[in-house]
Amino acid sequence: MTPSVTVIGGGLAGSEAAWQLAERGHKVRLYEMRPAKTTGAHVGDRLAELVCSNSLGSKLPDRATGILQNEMKMLGSLLLRCAEEAAVPAGGALAVDREQFAESVTRHLHDHPNIAIVREEALRTPLDRPTIVATGPLTSPALAQNIGKLAGEEYLYFYDAISPIARASTIDMSRAFSANRYGRGEEAAGDYINCPMEKEEYLRFVNALRTAETIELRDFEKEDPNFFEGCVPIEALAKRGDDTLAFGPMRPVGLTNPHTGGRPHAVVQLRQDDLAGSLYNIVGFQTNIRWKQQAAILRMIPGLEKASFVRLGQMHRNTFLNAPALLEPTMRFRKQEQLYFAGQITGVEGYVGNVATGLLAALNLSRRLRGMSEWIPPVDTMLGALCYYVTHAEAKHFQPMKANLGILPPLGAKIRDKARRRRAYAERAGASMQASLHALADDMINLNQQSAAMQPQA
Ligand SMILES: Cc1cc2nc3c(=O)[nH]c(=O)nc-3n(C[C@H](O)[C@H](O)[C@H](O)COP(=O)(O)OP(=O)(O)OC[C@H]3O[C@@H](n4cnc5c(N)ncnc54)[C@H](O)[C@@H]3O)c2cc1C
Repeated sequence: MTPSVTVIGGGLAGSEAAWQLAERGHKVRLYEMRPAKTTGAHVGDRLAELVCSNSLGSKLPDRATGILQNEMKMLGSLLLRCAEEAAVPAGGALAVDREQFAESVTRHLHDHPNIAIVREEALRTPLDRPTIVATGPLTSPALAQNIGKLAGEEYLYFYDAISPIARASTIDMSRAFSANRYGRGEEAAGDYINCPMEKEEYLRFVNALRTAETIELRDFEKEDPNFFEGCVPIEALAKRGDDTLAFGPMRPVGLTNPHTGGRPHAVVQLRQDDLAGSLYNIVGFQTNIRWKQQAAILRMIPGLEKASFVRLGQMHRNTFLNAPALLEPTMRFRKQEQLYFAGQITGVEGYVGNVATGLLAALNLSRRLRGMSEWIPPVDTMLGALCYYVTHAEAKHFQPMKANLGILPPLGAKIRDKARRRRAYAERAGASMQASLHALADDMINLNQQSAAMQPQA
């Protein structure tokens, strides 16, 4: 008999996971605490509710989310199909009628003979049966406490304090320089990229930060006493005084600018963010400045005038694990054979990325329970790159990541033209996913054929 499975959380990842397991013959108990208990961001009782934007990102085949959507279609995602059926006109984006989308996912799961939806808050993670935890960025406090004990409290976080990330190739090294403070560290050249500022440049920058427009906190964030406690945004530091940043994250101590031979007034430091060294995050630059203005202000930094940012800074409430320390790229929790995590709690961001990790966790838990080897998506696919990133990033400074071309391994040959480069990434990802899926051929769900489990009972 195919073993039964518990899924906790009926959001994007949990709904996809429950359906994938049910389609593979598992009896699934799906725990969803709404409507009895809410998260503060969800407003209804349906499964797979989109809490904010109704867009699942660009559907253009050579954009990061478009590549991921394409992979999800190859993998037989239910939620992607529901999204396409509920699509509304939105140019190149896959935007949906959120009511129709959630209604359609809820109906598929409700009508599935292998799925029982239990409207209860799970207070702990069961360790005596196969389980997927997909309780999202607003996991209920009781369960979060239990997960904290299981993972180690230092490995569970309650809010994002994301610093911007720039592509290394777009940093102007004729203005910036590589060095470690006081020349410490193993690398003679230096692990950090430093962007030096003279006093006038610094004061202009501080002033731009002070007057920038920021994103409003939500009620459930304002009420959370932990929020922002340990991590003050740069614009708030700028408002404390002219010198606060120069004595804080922008302190120039231990650094000499090789271009001038002098000590700069202030320095913005960037630290390597991926193993390939193609991405660098700006150290200590968590911020709530609105994205359009944020990019313009960051380009005031000497060396970043033409920088391309794969992610801008943000701060919001977000329960997530230190995935590099705790999870395998299959989404399995390292310390437990039959426990998987999926969705935003794994550190993967974005609606489609969350759905994708739900699918991956379900596929791998099912394979393990049926005595088959787990599947790791190739690292040059968008799903593979995301899972690789969140499980291999530097654990000490781990912050969530969403689908973007910057996390894919570099192409063999350098392609200068942006459109051709995007196409090359997309074509490589598609071919690689296709080839890898041959190994899973018997285990794939064909959404065009109604599955045996969905046939009406005679
Ligand atoms: C305010 C806000 C706005 C956001 N806006 C966007 C956006 O515009 N675009 C984007 O891509 N991403 C956005 N995100 C991130 C977004 O939450 C995720 O992309 C996505 O919803 C996460 O999917 P998930 O399945 O991991 O979690 P969710 O979709 O949140 O699902 C988790 C489910 O678990 C349930 N749950 C929690 N604890 C328990 C428990 N103990 N027992 C039982 N059930 C439980 C919750 O009720 C919820 O239904 C936003 C997040 C927040 C908080």
